[in-house]
Amino acid sequence: MEEETETFAFQAEIAQLMSLIINTFYSNKEIFLRELVSNSSDALDKIRYESLTDPSRLDSGKDLKIDIVPDRENNTLTIWDTGIGMTKADLVNNLGTIAKSGTKAFMEALQSGADISMIGQFGVGFYSAYLVADKVSVTTKHNDDEQYVWESSAGGSFTVRRDDTGERIGRGTKITLLFKEDQMEYLEEKRVRDIIKKHSQFIGYPISLQVEKERETELSEDEEEEEAKDEEGKEEDKPKVEDVEDEEEGEDKEKTKKKKTIKEKYTELDQLNKTKPLWTRNPDDISKDEYAEFYKSLTNDWEDHLAVKHFSVEGQLEFRALLFVPKRAPFDMFENKKQKNNIKLYVRRVFIMDNCEELIPDYLNFVKGVVDSEDLPLNISREMLQQNKVLKVIRKNLVKKCLDLFNEIAEDKDSFKKFYEQFGKNLKLGIHEDSANRTKLANLLRFHSTQSGDEMTSLKDYVTRMKDNQKHIYYITGESREQVANSAFVERLRKRGLEVMYMCDPIDEYSVQQLKEFDGKNLTSITKEGLELPEDEDEKKRFEEAKARCENLCQVMKDILDKKVEKVSVSNRLVGSPAVIVTGQYGWTANMERIMKAQALRDTSTMGYMQAKKHFEINADHPIVEALRVKADADKNDKAVKDLVWLLYETSLMASGFSLEEPTIHASRIHRMIMLGLGVDEVAEDVAATAASSDLPPLDGDEDDTSRMEEVD
Ligand code: ADP
Ligand code: MG
Repeated sequence: MEEETETFAFQAEIAQLMSLIINTFYSNKEIFLRELVSNSSDALDKIRYESLTDPSRLDSGKDLKIDIVPDRENNTLTIWDTGIGMTKADLVNNLGTIAKSGTKAFMEALQSGADISMIGQFGVGFYSAYLVADKVSVTTKHNDDEQYVWESSAGGSFTVRRDDTGERIGRGTKITLLFKEDQMEYLEEKRVRDIIKKHSQFIGYPISLQVEKERETELSEDEEEEEAKDEEGKEEDKPKVEDVEDEEEGEDKEKTKKKKTIKEKYTELDQLNKTKPLWTRNPDDISKDEYAEFYKSLTNDWEDHLAVKHFSVEGQLEFRALLFVPKRAPFDMFENKKQKNNIKLYVRRVFIMDNCEELIPDYLNFVKGVVDSEDLPLNISREMLQQNKVLKVIRKNLVKKCLDLFNEIAEDKDSFKKFYEQFGKNLKLGIHEDSANRTKLANLLRFHSTQSGDEMTSLKDYVTRMKDNQKHIYYITGESREQVANSAFVERLRKRGLEVMYMCDPIDEYSVQQLKEFDGKNLTSITKEGLELPEDEDEKKRFEEAKARCENLCQVMKDILDKKVEKVSVSNRLVGSPAVIVTGQYGWTANMERIMKAQALRDTSTMGYMQAKKHFEINADHPIVEALRVKADADKNDKAVKDLVWLLYETSLMASGFSLEEPTIHASRIHRMIMLGLGVDEVAEDVAATAASSDLPPLDGDEDDTSRMEEVD
């Protein structure tokens, strides 16, 4: 019977990845076995999960296991699991035509110096087979389909055919690697044993290696006769041997009294891993290395974990758990698609499911581990999990233990620094999401500040440095540390020795709004209106005087700027800058407005009412403001005043972190100032013409083009 073979092209990125894997010089090729065994383990997890609600799914084979079979004659190694298998569609989609986001991300990571052994984390581990193999064939049988064979020698294409004649494999997947000429070491028993021990010893299913053994077998009498005949034949060929045997006749006679034995070669499956789950053992007996190996086989990570918590809870409800914090955030942590392999759920040692979302809140999605419950029913479905009370209690406990673990990490400054770089955003997300643990999370936050130098500081340490009369914790949000450190807003506070926290992560805007206070002290944005600074009587008096002096100027400015600003007032926060734009107490800050504008696809309807309410604050002590005041007091319709107020407003907008609505108008104002500064009084014909014909709206007070030219003069 002819089996129809279909040929498919690998999706372009996958083809690219494969040639990268084949052509990159890379010595640590052994990881291919870890990846294939991990896929087998995933496939076994899947069938076990299906069987919990439908035991008949296991009718095609109850043993859940992984066998590794070397074939030294044909130079192949076969990894055979009795997992879920793949349908024809699975084969075509999962092994070649649909690229995951990790395909590209992995290639980019490789280009920027990542190691090939990271492949598993990017969800493309299967292709690591091509590190060692010229050709890979995958024979697979899923309960819902026939047996199929996938085959590829790379080169951009693969074939799939229905397999009606080959050996029946029941259910599962058999992957056969035809080794490259220089990769025969992976046929050696010891090599395979060592690799499995190193990378896969904690896989929860038996992994067995087919090994060759020799044994002495006693011959039956018939066989003995045959043997004797054989020997006679041999003796004829080798008379010299006979001579020797004759000399040792005495001994020979003794042997013939016993039964004759021969050495016989046979193969046997040798289990390589211990499947006793690590979490059921006593933490005192588990070494750091064992935890690390377990962690790596659980997560596909190539590096050890940063921290681990192993605990059990007893009482009304009983469970054991093992939680790990990785050293790095995964490449796709904040992608919408749910992560897998975070917390695995077991019930009485039986694997139930990967990535049980109900077990841990979103913001802790970087924590990996296992939970093994004594109380849940074995046949629990995803739907049932959502309402399950036991699970809610477990979740609460896990969150608490995670926070304990983070606090333990915080005891070591360097570790915590690494942790915070990777997962600081998650803690901030936690402030936003988890009101019950907000205070605990707030204790873990770290920021740079006007006084922290290169290190970061905690809110707790900030509080210890607060001035006696200081009531608030001051902070500023913005785009970068440099930007906020140099901004006009911090001038006065810095001069007065009041510490300001720098919050430069977009998420800070959200979390600080939720946090509101720490240790009974309000968190106060220094870019918002109504900033209260501790002041003595003298300062208060001077401030009142300045307000009175500039009352008219403020009014004039408000009239000029009209709806652009809510209010113009004298500032208490400036030293060297003439003015700033502050925002309303409850609206967005400039930074938030920037963040929201950057989110291209968001609903723009909230833009309107949330948009920052701008208050223009002027520095009464600044010579520019003082000169303006004198001019405005003399003549409030002074054209120069109007133009300068606009300029001052627009520059303050930028300096305060806003973007200009119409930067070209601002640019032309500046150009005119430059001309003024250079004493250019004759404008070249064509420049004047362009200026006249451009869309530039007349400046306030400019009635027509002639007056504009006059002003330039
Ligand atoms: P990942 O394991 O991260 O999904 P891989 O590249 O290792 O990425 O595997 C790709 C996909 O191929 C798997 O998600 C799975 O659907 C399928 N697959 C690979 N090996 C097996 C197997 N032994 N049994 C069943 N399916 C498998
Ligand atoms: Mg994999």
